[in-house]
Amino acid sequence: MIQKYPSALLENAVNEFAKLPGIGRKTALRLVLHSLKRTPEEVENFGQSIISLRNEINYCKVCHNICDEEVCHICSDLSRETALVCVVENIKEVMAIENTGQFHGLYHVLGGIISPMDGIGPSDLQIDSLVERAQSGEVKEIILALSSTMEGDTTNFYIYRKLSGCDVKISIIARGISIGDEIEYTDEITLGRSILNRINFSDSFKL
Ligand SMILES: [Zn+2]
Repeated sequence: MIQKYPSALLENAVNEFAKLPGIGRKTALRLVLHSLKRTPEEVENFGQSIISLRNEINYCKVCHNICDEEVCHICSDLSRETALVCVVENIKEVMAIENTGQFHGLYHVLGGIISPMDGIGPSDLQIDSLVERAQSGEVKEIILALSSTMEGDTTNFYIYRKLSGCDVKISIIARGISIGDEIEYTDEITLGRSILNRINFSDSFKL
């Protein structure tokens, strides 16, 4: 059903909100009407925060986590175990794992997982820089902590093969998490335990 809006300004704003993930046109209209109740200064701050985020966003040159400096606070923390690198899909997973308080190594943010359906191939992800880190000699173990979906498994296996010539141990977080669950939704205790109880990646597919 095509909805008629009494104002082109209103329609335009609804269209923009409706482009956000999980926001339908009804919710978009509700958010737009809510915006009208806010002060011009609040709306200005809201808009400006998104513009600044998009224009000034910076990624850590080591792990590709989002940060405000050249190197993120995790990579520059001298108390972390630099021999341990946990590979995750996005910053959401870094935040989830940090919240467990169980992991004291570093991260490597891929920026997604291999998904032919969405047109995402290995070259779209930070895999080459992971191989470089593995070859640097400083990293002793790489922990794969991707979603236990088919795309996650494909990505794990691709990385495993890419790292085959490197002198690093490759492990995978224990799957206390049921198939198809994304790790960001797992509770902190389960996630913390699954990192501590990680297994050798090569054992994970021999089972
Ligand atoms: Zn970093």
